[in-house]
Amino acid sequence: MTVHVVLNYELYYIDYSKYHLPIFMIDVRPYNIVCESKNTIMFFIENPRTNIELVSGFFEFYFSTTPNTNTHGQVVSKSLITFRTSIRTIDSFDQGCYEYTPCILFTKGLCLEEMLIYLPPQELSFLKELRFFCKGFENGSCHLCCFDKKNIVNLHDNRFDHKCCMDCILKWGDTCPFCRASIV
Ligand SMILES: [Zn+2]
Ligand SMILES: [Zn+2]
Repeated sequence: MTVHVVLNYELYYIDYSKYHLPIFMIDVRPYNIVCESKNTIMFFIENPRTNIELVSGFFEFYFSTTPNTNTHGQVVSKSLITFRTSIRTIDSFDQGCYEYTPCILFTKGLCLEEMLIYLPPQELSFLKELRFFCKGFENGSCHLCCFDKKNIVNLHDNRFDHKCCMDCILKWGDTCPFCRASIV
């Protein structure tokens, strides 16, 4: 997996492989990334997990005095986690398909040494969500919550129309809420 880092308009491709961990501790020392007194940093990681489309960060930081070459420092900021959703609309963005998590840059002198990026806790419900992606979604009224939704799934893919929205079925167990049969 590649972490793209742009520091003061200079692009670095950082190789990172431990993306299954809940916290990314990215050692960037081999890339010799040197900061200036005022800095703009942007980074992004594409598709680190099945349900996360993008992890990105964009912020500025500066050193009030030029640090000693052996002085350690930290820059605390936030990264934006964008989740993959079945439907991408303005509404779905409003409904929380993104969140902010902490991120910390570690410096030594003017060199960037490590980047610490927190990811949201891994919930296995996304595996359940994946099962429904191949079924396709339709517009209609959910038979459980009775709201009109754009992510209605026909749970057994048959004419009996046991249909409900993704939001409801992900909260439900492994059986159909209407007939208790397993969901195929
Ligand atoms: Zn519903
Ligand atoms: Zn059913």
